[in-house]
Amino acid sequence: MKQHIKCLTDFNVEKQRVFLRLDLNVPFKDGQILNDARILATLPTIEYLLEKGAKLLVASHLGRPRLPQDKITHSLTPIAQYLAEKLGREVFLIEDVVGDAPVHLIASLKPHQILMLENLRFEPGECENSHHLASHFANYTDIYINDAFATCHRSHASMVALPEMLNHKGIGFLIQKELQLLDLLFQAKPPFVLLLGGAKVSDKIGMVQHLMDKVDILMVGGMMAYTFLKAEGINVGDCLIQTDQLQEVKALLQSLKARGKTYLLPIDHVICPSSKEPSSDVVQTTTDANISQGFSGYDIGPQTIQKYKSVIAKSQTLFWNGPMGLFEKSPFDRGTLDMAKAIQQTEILSLVGGGDTVAAVWKSGLTKHLLTGGGASLKYLQGQMLPGLKALTIDPNVTTP
Ligand code: AMP
Repeated sequence: MKQHIKCLTDFNVEKQRVFLRLDLNVPFKDGQILNDARILATLPTIEYLLEKGAKLLVASHLGRPRLPQDKITHSLTPIAQYLAEKLGREVFLIEDVVGDAPVHLIASLKPHQILMLENLRFEPGECENSHHLASHFANYTDIYINDAFATCHRSHASMVALPEMLNHKGIGFLIQKELQLLDLLFQAKPPFVLLLGGAKVSDKIGMVQHLMDKVDILMVGGMMAYTFLKAEGINVGDCLIQTDQLQEVKALLQSLKARGKTYLLPIDHVICPSSKEPSSDVVQTTTDANISQGFSGYDIGPQTIQKYKSVIAKSQTLFWNGPMGLFEKSPFDRGTLDMAKAIQQTEILSLVGGGDTVAAVWKSGLTKHLLTGGGASLKYLQGQMLPGLKALTIDPNVTTP
C-alpha cells in the first residue's frame, strides 16, 4: 500500500525548507495540556530534522474552531511554548499563514529556531482542501513531510492539496511506526481479539467486516454494545442505540457465526436510573445482559470484565478501539481501566488506537503500543487508502533533493 511513499531518511534536508505537518491536537482544560502523548510522539521527527540542519516549519490544527472567540481558545500558542521548552529551541508562531511573513521568516531562520503556523483550521480553506491555500504553503516549502497519522483520513489542504502539488514529499517516523504496527495485524497470530467500544457502531463496523477472516474473537463494550444486544433481541432499557445500524449488526453477527468465529457481548452492566444524572450515588449492577425500562447503561459490569479479561489473557494479538463505558466519569471508567490493566499484564501484540481510548487508558499506566490515530487506524484497517497517504504517493522516477 505504501511502496511508493518516501520516508524522512530518503531526503537530504540540510538547508531545505521543510513543511512538517503534525497532529498536535491535544486535549486542553483551562489552558493546560491534559495529555501530551501526541506531542511527545512527534519529537523524534522534529529532532531528526533539526539535527540534519533543516529549516523547519511545523503546522497543525487544533480542535474545530468556528466562532471568532475560538481564535483565542484554539490558538497554538501553548503548544508552541510547550515545544520550545521540550526542545530547548525558540519556536515562533506565525499568525498570517497566507501573507509574505512565512516566506521571509523561513529565509532568515537560524539553526536553533523553528517556525510554527497558527492553527491551520483558522483558515477556512484548510477543511475545504483549498488549492489556493495550499499554493500559499507551497510558496515556502521545499520538502513536505507528513507525520500527522491521526489526520491522514481527512482530505484537508495541508494534508492533500499541498503534497499533491509537490514532488518532494514523504512520511515522518511516527507514521512509519504506526503503519508498521498496523500492518502486523494483517499477519496476526491467532487467537486475534478485536475489542471494540465507544459510542458509534457505524464508525467501526466496516473494519470488523474487513478483518472478519483474520479475527477470531470480537468483544464489544461501550455504548455500541447496546445496539449489538438489541440486535440479539436483548432488552436494553433506555440505552441509546443506532437503529439504522441494527440490520447491519445482525448481518455481521450472522457472518461471524457462519465463519465459526466467536463474539462476546456484555453479560451484565453498570446502570443508573435514566431520570437521574449518572453518578456513584445511584449506580446499580444488573445480574444479566438485560437492562430494565427506566435505566441506562454506563459501563460493562463485573462479570463481563472478568470474562473479557480471561479472553485477553489467552489471546496472542489484540486491537482495541473505543472505551468500555462513560470513562470520563468515575465509577464508569472501571471497565475501560480494567481492560487496560489486563492488556498491560500480557506479552501479546496489542495495539490500542484512538484519541478517546488512549486518553482513557493513559491513567491506567498502559503504555504499550498506543496509536495516535483512531479514525485513521480504523479506515486503514478497513482496507481504505487514506487520502493523506495517497497524496504522498510518488512517481518512483522523481529524484529526491
Ligand atoms: P467513540 O468516539 O465512538 O469511540 O466514543 C467515545 C465516547 O463514547 C466517549 O466519550 C465515552 O464516554 C462514550 N461512551 C462509551 N460508552 C458509553 C456509555 N455506556 N454511556 C455513555 N457514553 C459512553
